Amino acid sequence: MRAFNKKLKRSLPGFDLDELIRFVVYNDHQFRYNRNFSNQQSRVIFENWFDNKEKLIKEMICACNGRSSDTIIDWYKYGNSSKYRSYRDFMRSNSDVPNFEENFPQIFDGTSNCLGTYRRMRSPGLITLNLDNIQVFFWSIICSLACEKGYIFTREKIEELAKICILKTLYHELFHHAIDAQRYFLNDYQYDYFLDEALAVACSRHLVGFEAQFNLPFVSDFLDLAYAYEQPGYKDWVKYKSDEQFLIGLTRYTGIDRNLTHLGQETTPIAVGILYSIIENPNVQIELNF
Ligand SMILES: [Zn+2]
Repeated sequence: MRAFNKKLKRSLPGFDLDELIRFVVYNDHQFRYNRNFSNQQSRVIFENWFDNKEKLIKEMICACNGRSSDTIIDWYKYGNSSKYRSYRDFMRSNSDVPNFEENFPQIFDGTSNCLGTYRRMRSPGLITLNLDNIQVFFWSIICSLACEKGYIFTREKIEELAKICILKTLYHELFHHAIDAQRYFLNDYQYDYFLDEALAVACSRHLVGFEAQFNLPFVSDFLDLAYAYEQPGYKDWVKYKSDEQFLIGLTRYTGIDRNLTHLGQETTPIAVGILYSIIENPNVQIELNF
């Protein structure tokens, strides 16, 4: 695996990483007004959450007692309508589980406690980022790390982790898009809900690993919590944690190996080549959901 091509990421329609980081970290909602969204809520920008040395004042947002991953602020007051309060809420099964029997669902990750969804291509495919959920998910992990592990976060580190948090969801949904596109030309492919989700999480984790500019414990501790899935399928991503495991899993799932392996042709490079060729040239539209 290698890093996602940064230039293309910047040019995904509807996706401005810097704007989304400002939203998640500062609740800066300016871009939403600029784009004439309907149903505009008032957003109060997070102020004074950093001291004059640019360090996060954790008492402004974190409970740091009892369930330390909980945030203490009234999210509705800040215009965030997520009904969840802890990152753990996004890693558990929800009552509105999708229908596993479908041959190939129209919507992936469609439950209310998801950070994003993917709707199959009707040209284009549609990736929706559930920003209110992402914001709560993000700050809950920060509180957990600040309270339980004693991390002191600077503004720079917080922005870095917010970037990782947003890309985590983007890459997950792009994986679904890559499989969606391959369905049109792979004869031996068969949809498997659990495997699809496990590989989507693993793909996201591999790609996010290339994004962190700091190779420091605060990043790996953040990622440990951000990928601590408990849902069936999703949690099996750990079976594809190494490059090799992921590539073999992907090759088998897409069925690329079926008629080639016995001829001695290496197939994992084909599978990974197709994967990157789609996710770096995706036919998707990005939608922001609040
Ligand atoms: Zn998914």
